[in-house]
Order: sequence, then C-alpha cells, then structure tokens
Amino acid sequence: MDAYYQLEQSTLFLCNLFILVLLISLNVSILIIRVRTSSFWRNDPTEETQVAHVVTDSCIRCRYTDCVDVCPVDCFHAGPNFLVIDPEECIDCAVCIPECPVDAIRAEDDVPADQSAFIGINAELARVFPAITAREAPLPDAERWAQVKGKLEHLQR
Ligand code: SF4
Ligand code: SF4
Repeated sequence: MDAYYQLEQSTLFLCNLFILVLLISLNVSILIIRVRTSSFWRNDPTEETQVAHVVTDSCIRCRYTDCVDVCPVDCFHAGPNFLVIDPEECIDCAVCIPECPVDAIRAEDDVPADQSAFIGINAELARVFPAITAREAPLPDAERWAQVKGKLEHLQR
C-alpha cells in the first residue's frame, strides 16, 4: 500500500512539474514575442521605414495642383507659385507621384542631389503656406515654365 501511495505521489509530482515547465515555457515565448514586436526592435535599418515626399523645382511657376486631389491626408500647402508637402503629415503612399505632369514629386530618399534643398524648403514652407485640399487652375504661363529647369530663384514665399 505504501509503495502504491508513493508511486501515486511521484506521478502527481511529475505531472505538476510538467505543467509548471509548460507554463513557464509559454510565458517565456509570450515575453519573447512581445519584446521582438516592441518599437525598440523595430529600429532594424533593413526594415522599410516611412519617408516623406517632396515637391521639387519643376513645380515652381507651374502649380498644376493635380497632385492635391489624390492625397489621402491633405498634406499639400500652396504658395503663390509653388506647392509643398508637409513632411509631418505625409504618409508615404506615393499616389501623388504619377499625378504630377512635370515629375516634380519625389520620395525624400529619392530626391536628386541638386534638388536636396527642396527637402528643407518643403518642411519650412509647409508651416507658412496655407493648406490646399482641392485642385485649382494652373498658373497662366504654366506650360511655358514646365520646360524650364533651375527655377528656385523664382520661388515666391
Ligand atoms: S505621398 Fe501620399 S500622403 Fe504624401 S503627399 Fe503624396 S499623396 Fe500625400
Ligand atoms: S502636380 Fe506637380 S506641378 Fe502640379 S502642383 Fe503638384 S507638384 Fe506642382
């Protein structure tokens, strides 16, 4: 009887131990998943990160505004003869890029070196120019200026 009782106790102990190990493993797994999905681990440079889009030189003195209509977050701002994108609002959807008839919009990491000043210009003027949420008529001489390069000196603030 004693031997049987001891066997039963040992089996019970082993069962409890097994359940305990199982629970600990489960908790450790959950902890690992949480840590790996936390923002700290999301800073992996190989992962895709969001970049703002930038309006560059070609837009100056054209301002067709075709891009404004498609922006889902209304992050365009309009100056007298140029549009800018608010980098704080842009969600990197890229739908505005093909809308621009003069190819003025680039992702920030795709802005040509000779246009890099426009990254700062967009950020600066987005705080100055009023928001624009619907297409407007292009500037009267837009077609002529669409062919001209290096128009920064004509940018009106
Ligand atoms: S990339 Fe998307 S969110 Fe950014 S300006 Fe273009 S349309 Fe708007
Ligand atoms: S479509 Fe191009 S040219 Fe027209 S306002 Fe937008 S960025 Fe400027």
